[in-house]
Amino acid sequence: MRIIDSHAHLCSSKYTENDIELIVKNANVNGLKFIIDIGASFNESKNALKNATKYKNIFAAVGIHPLESDSWNDEIKEQIKLMAQQDKVVAIGEIGLDYYYKTAPTKQWQTKVFKEQLEIAKELKLPVSIHVRDAYADALVILKQFPGIKGVMHCFNGTVEEAKKFIEIGLYISFSGIITFENATELVKVAKSTPLSKMLVETDSPYLTPVPFRGKINQPEYISYTIRKIAKIKNLLIDDIEKQTTENAINLFKIR
Ligand SMILES: [Zn+2]
Repeated sequence: MRIIDSHAHLCSSKYTENDIELIVKNANVNGLKFIIDIGASFNESKNALKNATKYKNIFAAVGIHPLESDSWNDEIKEQIKLMAQQDKVVAIGEIGLDYYYKTAPTKQWQTKVFKEQLEIAKELKLPVSIHVRDAYADALVILKQFPGIKGVMHCFNGTVEEAKKFIEIGLYISFSGIITFENATELVKVAKSTPLSKMLVETDSPYLTPVPFRGKINQPEYISYTIRKIAKIKNLLIDDIEKQTTENAINLFKIR
């Protein structure tokens, strides 16, 4: 029991109650110590909290994803804030900016919702799980307005230079199954240049299934393939990657 999946969506409607029960039951066998169940919408956040309350080795993060930010209003904000104060909630997330889709909420609106959730994190002294797609420069500008904020660039997929800038402001870089993809050339460089002390690992289940399970629904136990690939890239033992990323996650999320 060594590994922490720092970002999964067991709260997603893609999993049934039975799936979650099986994942949790098998966690021991598969080397998983804890799973951080991350809400992307209001409903997912509620589910994540429910799962964390039910299972000892699940912790929750609550927040509204940029692509769900149209749902944001004062009522949701209050609810997120209330949920964030529950015992097993260890972070605000996932929050951030996503400019990839033309149909996404406007940049202005995404910025407002991102900032308001960063405010909640700051007020409650919680770390943040950050989602950024095609918006690294803007995200950096916003994050610099919150000096001392703790958090992780979840499922990082930018350049070496971009990763450095986020590490400089104290954030962790999290690697997902994308690193196992054949075309992950730049990400391999990022993994090489990121100090192990600043790295987290995640599955982003049910999405981003690693090689060799492409096409299947992702699950936390597949994290071992991401870890194996990182060990190979950094020329370190699998055990080193597991130990250090687990220690990093425990420190960031203050899991006891
Ligand atoms: Zn996610």
